[in-house]
Amino acid sequence: MELQKDFFSMSSKLPPVNDNPPTDKPKIYSVGHYPKVICPHCLGSCTGWKTSQQTELVREIYYACQTPDCGHVFVAQLVPVRTILKSQMPNPEIRLPNYQEKSEAN
Ligand SMILES: [Zn+2]
Repeated sequence: MELQKDFFSMSSKLPPVNDNPPTDKPKIYSVGHYPKVICPHCLGSCTGWKTSQQTELVREIYYACQTPDCGHVFVAQLVPVRTILKSQMPNPEIRLPNYQEKSEAN
């Protein structure tokens, strides 16, 4: 499982292989700062280089696949999907489903 090996070994210190992902904005590199994802096409490791908050719940992250023969550049979304422990400073406009343990029936 070469993919898994790469996934873990790259988690904190991989420099970007592709220094020039196509972007019209200034590049902001922060390797290791973005969640690791795999390329949906070649399943290779990807490097995030830019993020932007779209709404209170949706953050977009720009990724570039590090497989030289692939070169896929794409946007992923980071979205909170459910609450595990309630906020002590709740925003009434934010409503997330509560985390629920699986029922004992399973
Ligand atoms: Zn790829």
